Amino acid sequence: MLKGKTALVTGSTSGIGLGIAKALAAQGANILMNGFGDVESPKAEIAALGVQVAYHGADMSRPNEIADMLSYAAERFGRVDILVNNAGIQHVARIENFPVERWDAIIAINMSSAFHATRLALPAMQAAGWGRIINVASVHGLVASAEKSAYVTAKHGVIGLTKVTALENATTGVTCNAICPGWVLTPLVQKQVDAKAAALGLTNDEAKKLLLGEKEPSLQFTTPEELGALAVFFCSPAGNNVRGVAWNMDGGWTAQ
Ligand code: NAD
Repeated sequence: MLKGKTALVTGSTSGIGLGIAKALAAQGANILMNGFGDVESPKAEIAALGVQVAYHGADMSRPNEIADMLSYAAERFGRVDILVNNAGIQHVARIENFPVERWDAIIAINMSSAFHATRLALPAMQAAGWGRIINVASVHGLVASAEKSAYVTAKHGVIGLTKVTALENATTGVTCNAICPGWVLTPLVQKQVDAKAAALGLTNDEAKKLLLGEKEPSLQFTTPEELGALAVFFCSPAGNNVRGVAWNMDGGWTAQ
């Protein structure tokens, strides 16, 4: 379905980004990966799906590096047809103790990076008359949790940006939507499981059950594969008129 298209997935060396990149690649899209850590093994996993894969190591907190990545995408693939703004980090602390440097980093990486990548990717999508922008927000774009001020602020902002992007392009073939996962067991969440286990003297499994039980009625983690399937739907012809939604995949978290 996506043969000949190119998808840039930020933060795709791990977790949800890698799951979405693999789902898009399975539909034939070439992938421009981004993110830190081990690049070679996730790159090989995507290449095994028979598509072209490239990598750019832009730090998503730096607008000049994001611009460099979009220029590289144009050089290597012609243009970006599908942009998945996914890179993100977390820090947990009460507002009065929240390190200012962590606030700035979360706002830059989880929110402003989506603005920069979107503004740079849009002109080529508009010229082509087709494009998909998918913002990986969170249930924390819709509701709050204590001790996550920067993250909740950034994710609410991303949903606002999603709606404006969708409206400004509503009469074109370019759509923009957000995905709002509940708990997904990636390194970002494992750190929170570890912190709970250490604080309460629990095993890894007990801490996971406690985390799910506090928020997610299904008592199940959403998987990167499920989120990848939703991203593929947004890219399908059936997604042509889905514009500006914030779609939960959260086991009932926000239904409560
Ligand atoms: P993860 O830690 O597995 O992956 C994060 C990715 O972002 C990695 O590839 C990492 O290298 C990259 N990254 C981090 N800082 C970066 C930077 N400055 N520049 C470029 N890349 C950077 O985490 P994840 O859980 O897969 O998170 C992906 C997205 O999903 C995030 O936006 C997160 O907020 C969101 N999300 C996660 C959950 C969850 O439960 N895991 C729930 C809702 C939303």
